[in-house]
Amino acid sequence: MYRTHTNGELRLPDAGKEVCLCGWVQRSRDLGGMTFVDLRDRYGITQIVFNMETDADLCAKARTLGREFVIQVKGIVAERSNKNLKIPTGEIEILAKEINILNPAKTPPFTIEDHSDGGDELRMKYRYLDLRRDCVRKNLELRHRLSIEIRKYMDAQGFMEIETPFLVKSTPEGARDFVVPSRMNPGEFYALPQSPQQYKQLLMVAGMDRYFQIVRCFRDEDLRADRQPEFTQLDCEMAFVEQEDVLQTFEGLIRHLFRVEKGIELPPLPRMSWQTAMDKYGSDKPDIRFGMEFTALKDVFPQGKFSIFDQSEWIGGICVPGAAEYTRKQLDELTEFVKRPQVGATGLIYIKCNADGSFKSSIDKFFGAEELKAVAQACQAKAGDLILIMAGKAAKTKTALGVLRLEMGNRLGLRDPFNYKVLWVVDFPLLEWDEEAGRFFAMHHPFTAPKPEDDALLETDPGKVRANAYDMVINGVEVGGGSIRIHDKSLQARMFKALGFSDEEAQAQFGFLMNAFEFGAPPHGGLAFGFDRLCALFGGADSIRDYIAFPKNNAGRDTMSESPSPISEAQLKELCIKVNL
Ligand code: ASP
Repeated sequence: MYRTHTNGELRLPDAGKEVCLCGWVQRSRDLGGMTFVDLRDRYGITQIVFNMETDADLCAKARTLGREFVIQVKGIVAERSNKNLKIPTGEIEILAKEINILNPAKTPPFTIEDHSDGGDELRMKYRYLDLRRDCVRKNLELRHRLSIEIRKYMDAQGFMEIETPFLVKSTPEGARDFVVPSRMNPGEFYALPQSPQQYKQLLMVAGMDRYFQIVRCFRDEDLRADRQPEFTQLDCEMAFVEQEDVLQTFEGLIRHLFRVEKGIELPPLPRMSWQTAMDKYGSDKPDIRFGMEFTALKDVFPQGKFSIFDQSEWIGGICVPGAAEYTRKQLDELTEFVKRPQVGATGLIYIKCNADGSFKSSIDKFFGAEELKAVAQACQAKAGDLILIMAGKAAKTKTALGVLRLEMGNRLGLRDPFNYKVLWVVDFPLLEWDEEAGRFFAMHHPFTAPKPEDDALLETDPGKVRANAYDMVINGVEVGGGSIRIHDKSLQARMFKALGFSDEEAQAQFGFLMNAFEFGAPPHGGLAFGFDRLCALFGGADSIRDYIAFPKNNAGRDTMSESPSPISEAQLKELCIKVNL
């Protein structure tokens, strides 16, 4: 037997026991007559003591131990005179009687501590060492607990976990596919699934009724901190349901997770229409941890005084509480912030509501005190507040003001990651016009059903059709989304038509799903959660990377295994692939 206990287990009542422990040397300290070793494993740290007086040979051996050596120690549990109450095993230590070096180790390239001296790149290259750090391991433990709780809840609700294929047909709708050449079918390719969408719908046709899967998905997109080329979804589908059933079921899931993991009893989730989210927050994933909602100002400013306003389709403002004291420099900084290409605004207008009731603004030349006062009133600004205003094309300006709102939320410390605010955003538009392509795209995906009351608009005013689609948003992050699906072949055909597909194109790409719908497809709907994001949110972090055991970097590379990598001529030949770079 390698060990009798783990390094996180022994306590004062164990004193006197003869034990055997294994683990990695966190550090060792040589104090002349005594040598202390902190022994670490996944469960904790236990202090081992070697005494020069009682066993000089053993003590000498202990002094040869380097960081991260793997050792086995036999000894007696004893009460510590110098207790460390910061760790659970801090009241005891092991008086060593025997030590076996199971494996020596090279000095690690960075310290295995919460505050490591290793930079991001180095830690990713040696991710197996990074994972030894408490703070990273804890993230994976959280992930594990959430996946277990999800499975418990889904099982209790009658959902069945079913695996769907990873080698699937490439479909151009949606994000870019990762493709896999087929050796047995030269010149033909599989794609890795962006999601199991079509398969889960087929499972509904197959009568499975309630399906779920915690499943890897692949999208060949440009990466950001919260995106990985492969990521994990909790994917779900239900038959014989309406939108309300789906919302209730997954509201139940999220409440369950918050209850068991955080001890938080969530209030019933508020619902906000997509239109309201865009009008009030400039985002389809509003962060409702703080106010600063938009006030529409087009009708508040008098016409004919300021040509920029006259020409603007939309004018909106946010009231930043207590920020009237902002200096010229701070305001310039904000203007620079909104002018960055990522935000894309042309400028920023401010009105300071001074403590003495006067106003100071960047549009003093155009508007008098009474007019500014009316704006302040519309924005419900108080003395001491700062109003920030943007004007221009409606959609673009709202989005830009939304980004500024979040920035002001950050600056005022209003975005505490552990203050959870969860909501549903509903009534998304079905279609989205793409200027470049000159056609509509499905906002969610081409299988999403229009709201029955908007059905007739599909041919007459497609941009106006709302979908039975919904997103769950937590703290300004979209954690899940789904829709009620089209289960009727003729409606699906109309949808493809609205997307500009010919019958042949639709048949070539989605024929297998459409054909299946002719064999008795039940009404159905579902959704998928981004599981990595959910874990990061529960952990209070922005980046999903630390919640994935072996993530890719921003260039989509695994620097540890050095993938992607070239393959041999022979492999290419076998796959009938010619590469001309
Ligand atoms: N398959 C969709 C997605 O990955 C989710 C769904 O509609 O269920 O976003």
